[in-house]
Amino acid sequence: MNEVLIGLEIHCQLTSLESKLFCTCLGEYRNSKPNSNICPVCCGFPGTLPLLNKRAVEHSAMISNSLGCKIPPKLMFYRKNYFYPDLPKNFQITQYNVYGLTSIGSEGNVKINDMNIRIRRVQLEEDPGRILYSPDSTHANNYVLVDYNRAGVSLVEIVTEPDFTSPREVRFFLNKLSSILEHIGVCDTFLEGAVRCDANVSLKGGNRIEIKNVSSFKEVEKALTYEISRQANLLTRNIKIASETRHWDEQRKITKIARTKEEEQDYRYFPEPDIPVIVLDSEFSFHVSKLIPELPDQRLSRFVSDFNLSNHVANILINSKKLADFFETVVKIYASPIEIGNWIVNDLLGLMGGEETISMDSLKIQPKHIAELARLVDENKINRTTAKQFLTNMFQTGETPSELLGKSDLSRIDDEDLIERTVEQVF
Ligand code: ZN
Ligand code: MN
Repeated sequence: MNEVLIGLEIHCQLTSLESKLFCTCLGEYRNSKPNSNICPVCCGFPGTLPLLNKRAVEHSAMISNSLGCKIPPKLMFYRKNYFYPDLPKNFQITQYNVYGLTSIGSEGNVKINDMNIRIRRVQLEEDPGRILYSPDSTHANNYVLVDYNRAGVSLVEIVTEPDFTSPREVRFFLNKLSSILEHIGVCDTFLEGAVRCDANVSLKGGNRIEIKNVSSFKEVEKALTYEISRQANLLTRNIKIASETRHWDEQRKITKIARTKEEEQDYRYFPEPDIPVIVLDSEFSFHVSKLIPELPDQRLSRFVSDFNLSNHVANILINSKKLADFFETVVKIYASPIEIGNWIVNDLLGLMGGEETISMDSLKIQPKHIAELARLVDENKINRTTAKQFLTNMFQTGETPSELLGKSDLSRIDDEDLIERTVEQVF
């Protein structure tokens, strides 16, 4: 087996913000008609000046803090120059640690089981616009459309060190990152395009390949698995792996060569002259630390110590804030945490088809229904097989356990005489 090294570059939008990073256009651009959520600032008209959104600094600092990163004493912005239709200014205002650590976060750490993933940096930058390719790009009159509604939306880029050795570890990390973002409430990872992930992967003896264009966290594991076997295949045939950028083709489930990779110097980074250096004093760091709610790690230990849950069950619950909240609501109604934890993790999630397919919002089962079900089982009114059947019905129709009990003849009979007489009768 080849030695694999994987590093990630994750972009997440600060969907919590009302306006864009440097102007007053709306942060939520998804429901506007193309090129309507724009202004001279985010379109980069000559003579306009960017005005930094204070909230964006605060919210990106929350991400930095919860990934164990250092917040810098001085925050600086840089211009990253490249010519592409999605960039109206032909440069992106971003951050770059060239004169010391001046990006919103650096040198962080995320622990997952016994792994330790180092975070190289967290930076605040503006999102480019969106390019829409014509559906049939082979056609003679193919075209490309551009929508600048997204241009200038606050984006946080998180770069890890190449600390992953398998696609599976990457999935664990991304699950945890989603849960952290969900808990601090600055990025709704369920919104289309709110999180995007690029990955670089190299095998011992080969060059680093970058995979771009992965539209969701779910696809990353697949893209990496494909890419590793492709590279391993080339290496066994003694074919050199060139350093390049590849795109993940979601339909065909393969990576395709996009272009040979730019070097960092190609971007001609230089300090953004229109935004001053921003001093972040210790008061700011203190203020940010006060904004951080209970994070998944702390919640996990609390679930284990207060509710006696197994590490396995607690881990699955805290993987999603909504699921963990659901669990806690049920337990408040009926205090049988171990039983309830098991119903949610083993049965309810099974019905939901894994954690991600159905969002908790569209769930027909309410916390009080699970509480009632657990109580019926505890009170021996129904057995486990019946309870399982009820859960399936509840999941499909939203009926309550007592409604189901009333409709069915499945309630448990404890009267031994009655059972005996019935058995006699049958024989
Ligand atoms: Zn604007
Ligand atoms: Mn970026």
